[in-house]
Amino acid sequence: MSRIAYVNGRYVPHRTASVHVEDRGYQFSDGVYEVCEVRGGHLVDARRHLDRLERSLSELRIALPMGRAALAAVLREVVARNGVKDGIVYLQVTRGVARRDHAFPAPGTAPSLVVTARRADMAAQERLAEQGVRVICVPENRWPRVDIKTVGLLPNVLAKQQAKEAGAREAWFVDASGHVTEGSSTNAWIVTGDGRIVTRPAENGILKGITRAVVLDAAKALGLVIVERAFTPQEAYGAREAFITAASTLVMPVVEIDGHTIADGRPGPVARDLRHRFHTFAEVS
Ligand code: PLP
Repeated sequence: MSRIAYVNGRYVPHRTASVHVEDRGYQFSDGVYEVCEVRGGHLVDARRHLDRLERSLSELRIALPMGRAALAAVLREVVARNGVKDGIVYLQVTRGVARRDHAFPAPGTAPSLVVTARRADMAAQERLAEQGVRVICVPENRWPRVDIKTVGLLPNVLAKQQAKEAGAREAWFVDASGHVTEGSSTNAWIVTGDGRIVTRPAENGILKGITRAVVLDAAKALGLVIVERAFTPQEAYGAREAFITAASTLVMPVVEIDGHTIADGRPGPVARDLRHRFHTFAEVS
């Protein structure tokens, strides 16, 4: 089955799908995106992803390109046309196409909308989760508005590449006060020696992950103790467990940080349990 993308009102072959060279996403990273998990052909937590999309757009004063119901229908159509059972659907909205000029284009310039979907190798993901992943820490160098899910991801790209070259899967940003903010494409968590689940509050320094929200719900329902506070890499090195979360990786155990083995070097029971139970708490539509 050949891949299909949605681009500004049309379903087109993925290999030739394109936007104009003066799209403001291309020129200025003037746009936002969402990544939603697809499971069994259904969208996972679409409501929360669309809520966050609306918030990101309103923070940047970009109009929602169509109503929410229509947008959800496009997401489903792209998933169906690509025959995706398990994987992700990606959507990107930019401020549209206009002559290159930093200030906003004329009112009425239509925002651009692109949607793609792709399959994930679930067996490979599960194998990775059985092993756990390595993380390195890097200095935080992003702008303060990381709460907006913009396509301006250059620091994240560089951090992820640095991690890859160091044989790690993720890079955790560390802020000027020495605390972990989040990963380049994930939220960061530890479990302390006394069993508390610790993750940074969503007020500043991180993207408010949808997977993070579902994991918080799951942990509460399971009677686990959660503390929303920042933690340092040093605390993480000595943690009982560590893990990362994102829609594309769900709950992924971390077994090594900056060369320090976490506990016995194997995925811990809290991360494993939250991963297994995740879909009991997520919304499927
Ligand atoms: N933090 C960053 C910087 C991200 O890019 C992502 C996901 O792309 C996340 C956290 C996790 O967010 P979510 O759980 O909504 O996928």
